[in-house]
Amino acid sequence: MTILTDPFDSVRAASGTWLQQMKWAIRDVQTLRQSLNLPENLAIGARAVQDFPVFVPLPFLSRMKPGDIGDPLLRQILPVPAEDASPEHFSIDPLKENSATLTPGLLQKYRGRVLLVTTGACAVHCRYCFRRHFDYAQAPSSLTQWLPALERIASDDSIEEVILSGGDPLTLVDATLISLLERIAAIPHISRIRFHSRLPIMIPQRITPALLDFLGTLDQQIFMVIHANHANEFDTYVDEALKQLKHVGATLLNQTVLLRGINDSPETLIELSKRLLKSNVLPYYLHQLDPITGTSHFEVSRARGQELVAAMRENLPGYAVPRYVKELAGEASKTIWEN
Ligand SMILES: *Cc1c(COP(=O)(O)O)cnc(C)c1O
Ligand code: SF4
Repeated sequence: MTILTDPFDSVRAASGTWLQQMKWAIRDVQTLRQSLNLPENLAIGARAVQDFPVFVPLPFLSRMKPGDIGDPLLRQILPVPAEDASPEHFSIDPLKENSATLTPGLLQKYRGRVLLVTTGACAVHCRYCFRRHFDYAQAPSSLTQWLPALERIASDDSIEEVILSGGDPLTLVDATLISLLERIAAIPHISRIRFHSRLPIMIPQRITPALLDFLGTLDQQIFMVIHANHANEFDTYVDEALKQLKHVGATLLNQTVLLRGINDSPETLIELSKRLLKSNVLPYYLHQLDPITGTSHFEVSRARGQELVAAMRENLPGYAVPRYVKELAGEASKTIWEN
């Protein structure tokens, strides 16, 4: 049981609505330091924190170990000085997303599926984020603004799947999200709707009865890709939210980013896979880090990644081993990075 300093106690972390949790989220290093009893002289990436402020919700914070600067959850959200360094091969748009844009906020890189950037908001600021430099001001985030994207999807019957991404699509309030989903579900050639979201983990309260009820009415297959990087991200509240999603028929998948100092050991990755299975989630992808400015300290070499996947394969059933992939600009799919 984690003991937190007032007022960020574990009781508060488990209470409130998800919107309250968004409001209560920690937004500065000082408060973060106090609530986790971190050293006074903790070094911070000053430029990084200005460009991409701290944002961490209490339910996630409550799963961190106070006083431990090596905590694998803390490392995902703490802006360290290394972020201010920027090696040559790291850039702002290595994935060339600008050239994959069909209409503002609608990306297509792969056949049969499109990705809709629904919002710039997230329920956490992950320091390794590949969209931390994305120009969200350009992205639509209301029904009127989504209309061009929806028309484009409706006019192309080779599109079978809509991926809701962001930012995090589950930061949209139920009324907005449901009205968007209704529009998408009404397009006859759409047979699958996929969410990529960290909210079931960050703020499990987000999986509201209204959302569940609505998802349960859809004819389309629903895929929920959660983004967990470590087994410690799970607790009973997360499990309950995932169970409810499963109950309305959603297929649960996980995507992990391979991160130095967080999950780059065989034990950690094996434990994560086992923890996912326990929550009915199948490991989907293990991503090689995208070379985004400010994230190079998280990089794990490809050779090391291959060793880690080999170790997972020796210790887990085949369905519990994620595919180790990298996203390369211009390719027709993610690229298998295993050999
Ligand atoms: C990663 C990605 C997808 C999804 O790829 P899958 O291999 O189907 O998971 C779709 N569109 C874009 C733009 C992507 O970056
Ligand atoms: S939730 Fe995803 S988009 Fe948001 S900060 Fe984290 S990695 Fe980036």
